[in-house]
Amino acid sequence: MDKRDYYEVLGVSKSASQDEIKKAYRKLSKQYHPDINKAADADVKFKEISEAYEVLSDEQKRAQYDQFGHAGPNQGFGGGDGFGFEDIFSSFFGGGGGARRRDPNAPRKGNDLQYSMTIEFEEAVFGKEKEIDVAKEETCDTCTGTGAKPGTHPEKCTHCNGHGQVNVTQDTPFGRIQTKRACHHCEGTGKMIKDKCTTCHGKGTVNKRKKIKVTIPAGVDDGQQLRVSGQGEPGINGGPAGDLYIVFRVKADPRFERDGDDIYYELPLTYAQAALGDEIEVPTVQGKVKLKVPAGTQSQTTFRLKGKGVKNVHGYGTGDQHVVVKVITPKKLTEKQKQLLREFAEISGDIPEEQGSSLFDKIKRTIKGE
Ligand SMILES: [Zn+2]
Ligand SMILES: [Zn+2]
Repeated sequence: MDKRDYYEVLGVSKSASQDEIKKAYRKLSKQYHPDINKAADADVKFKEISEAYEVLSDEQKRAQYDQFGHAGPNQGFGGGDGFGFEDIFSSFFGGGGGARRRDPNAPRKGNDLQYSMTIEFEEAVFGKEKEIDVAKEETCDTCTGTGAKPGTHPEKCTHCNGHGQVNVTQDTPFGRIQTKRACHHCEGTGKMIKDKCTTCHGKGTVNKRKKIKVTIPAGVDDGQQLRVSGQGEPGINGGPAGDLYIVFRVKADPRFERDGDDIYYELPLTYAQAALGDEIEVPTVQGKVKLKVPAGTQSQTTFRLKGKGVKNVHGYGTGDQHVVVKVITPKKLTEKQKQLLREFAEISGDIPEEQGSSLFDKIKRTIKGE
């Protein structure tokens, strides 16, 4: 089952204001709330409306959705950021409603799954098609998900008359209170299976490994996620399957450090290169680039290579590469090199006397012939 467009779900235009979105949501959520609307698919419709509102009411999520559709990374999902189903419910209906009654026979969306996928730095920058192997519950082929032996059907639970819930009367200090609890005999499903399917033992699902093709979007960053629609667990009572969320973990690169769409690269330069200037080939994710280092370049000087960073995952241009100079001081010197450096220091005469420098003293001694 394909997901419907969020704007279509709320019946608003793509340019709708936040006020229009809120109004449409209030109207529809009241119309389809499962406590008010008794139609079989009201529950599913209500969830669809809530999900559409959750995305479109958040400007950031909305922008991502406009750009990327349902497949966009970072689309809010249950338990993460944003607000959940129950929060929306309580904010519009006064809250404190307690447990809502659920029809055990109503179609329900299957559970969402999460999969963590470790990818190479370059795969994140340029994107790639990959196949993943996911272990998940799938509808049992033998019984087509009913849990009953082929040729037989699940029957209505006689203890709860198919409601999945039973009334319980309790005596409390405040008097008799009648509450509902899930039926023990059918575990709240409202159904009894006499002849269980031997493949799934009545569960209706079996654990299978499934290969799923994933397109890593170019420019995706560490921690971002991608929704693969309908690849979660199967729906209940004919409801739609849940979604699969792939969270990307991007491996570090020995040369490049990424900050959003920008890349940082540390360029080691010898003292001579920094002092005299040089033309150097610098690696970027897009290949080598010639960089002219001017004479007298200091350590920590940063050069910007415009547009040599990462292409934005939502199509908003391309980042830059920042080349940060690091002047390397030589660690081991030959006697000849030491001598030349002392001479150099002497000619420059630029060691401030107030430093009390011992090198300065040594040079002074050389000059005086001591
Ligand atoms: Zn029952
Ligand atoms: Zn089965």
